[in-house]
Amino acid sequence: MPLYINGVSLPARRATQETNKHAEHGRPERQRRYIKGIPLQMQHDFLIVGAGFAGIVCAERLASAGKRVMIIDRRPHIGGNAFDTYDENGILVHPYGPHIFHTNSKRVFAYLSHFTDWRFYEHRVLAEVGGTLYPFPINRVTLNALYGLNLDEVSAAAHFERVRIPKSEIATSEDVVLSSVGKDLCEKFFRNYTRKQWGLDLSELSAGVAARIPTRTNDDDRYFTDTYQFMPARGYTEMFECMLAHPKIEVELSTDFFAVRTSLPAKQIIYTGPIDTYFDHRFGCLPYRSLRFEHEHLTNLERYQPVGTVNYPNDHAYTRITEFKHLTGQKHAGTSVVREYPTCHGEPYYPIPRFDNERLFKRYAALALAESNVHFVGRLAEYRYYNMDQVVGAALTLVEKQLCLAAA
Ligand code: FAD
Ligand code: UDP
Repeated sequence: MPLYINGVSLPARRATQETNKHAEHGRPERQRRYIKGIPLQMQHDFLIVGAGFAGIVCAERLASAGKRVMIIDRRPHIGGNAFDTYDENGILVHPYGPHIFHTNSKRVFAYLSHFTDWRFYEHRVLAEVGGTLYPFPINRVTLNALYGLNLDEVSAAAHFERVRIPKSEIATSEDVVLSSVGKDLCEKFFRNYTRKQWGLDLSELSAGVAARIPTRTNDDDRYFTDTYQFMPARGYTEMFECMLAHPKIEVELSTDFFAVRTSLPAKQIIYTGPIDTYFDHRFGCLPYRSLRFEHEHLTNLERYQPVGTVNYPNDHAYTRITEFKHLTGQKHAGTSVVREYPTCHGEPYYPIPRFDNERLFKRYAALALAESNVHFVGRLAEYRYYNMDQVVGAALTLVEKQLCLAAA
């Protein structure tokens, strides 16, 4: 499907946004079309469950292709976990934890660029070990500072070669870490963080979890090395509002699909919530990991910490502290931070990548395949540890390949 924007030119969309802005914070007013009271006789082509990245991308693409779309969310806001908003002190924060956009996909970046300008931002992370802050992911500087060495790149590579514990098969996250950095670095940076984050040992998690973190022999201290590393210039929510600003899209918030499913006629459904919930947990609950977010504002303190995120692998009940002004570039006399406390109760934020869970998910995926006119996409519906760009890619593919073919 060609990439065009709703038959409305981008300058026109942006102009609409400009006129909607709040004077104070630059946040556009909530779209007026967030109607209350759905006209039940009106059949939509698509009902989309969940107004996170997955649902919003589908809604925008389908409306642009001429489909009538209703998108609902049980939360009182759009954006899913990527929702951002100004806190009571006027700082743009991410209520569901820090969201840093990065991708190697030109297609995904080009698509989102129709709805937002960008601010260049490369995320940096320090890890506190034994009271000292070290660059993380582990690089040459980390090694030198931690062990009092003076390694160049070649000798840093030789160091890793010396300490790594080779594995014949890389099946778990423990295999990944031990085979790349060996036991000491594993214990200092990975073992306890992982236990805190997942309530599991590294050896109980699939390799893909720890494989998200590279090991470097150079001095690169960026958390990501993707080609495109940018934050939406005025935040995610404003970008989402721009995506939903189409006359064929209706948005209904604070609406649970399971409470309204029989009263919302639609030819097809796109479901982005937890897949096990859709099937009434028929085979048992899929495990998810949750977080409790503790937000704090500090008045008259311009900067709380030297980088966007500081990880605490070994101390404290929280895993990391993020200071939002690093991410957004906002200027303010105060600052706002968030601490993340992992927990097994609450909103399902993370699918838990391990063999047994994947096996259970596959049983639900088989049911999903057999469900006519219902499509499952997104982090919870596909039970995938997706980053935002991967969700956008999956949603674009769903709309482009499957739905348009089916509707043709
Ligand atoms: P969600 O954002 O979860 O949206 C699903 C929506 O469905 C929710 O709004 C939910 O309320 C709604 N819903 C569920 N059930 C129902 C129902 N029955 N009725 C109506 N609505 C329903 N990715 C990155 O790329 N970079 C990052 O830095 C990053 N940081 C993250 C930090 C944290 C703490 C977390 C948890 C995730 C992070 N992610 C990050 C991942 C990112 O949040 C996801 O990839 C992305 O937001 C998933 O989009 P989604 O639409 O699939 O799901
Ligand atoms: N990890 C770790 N120590 C750290 C950071 C990450 O052991 O200081 C491991 C941990 O298992 C974590 C995984 O690497 O869950 C992926 O980290 P990432 O920062 O990508 O997690 P996310 O941002 O998705 O929570």
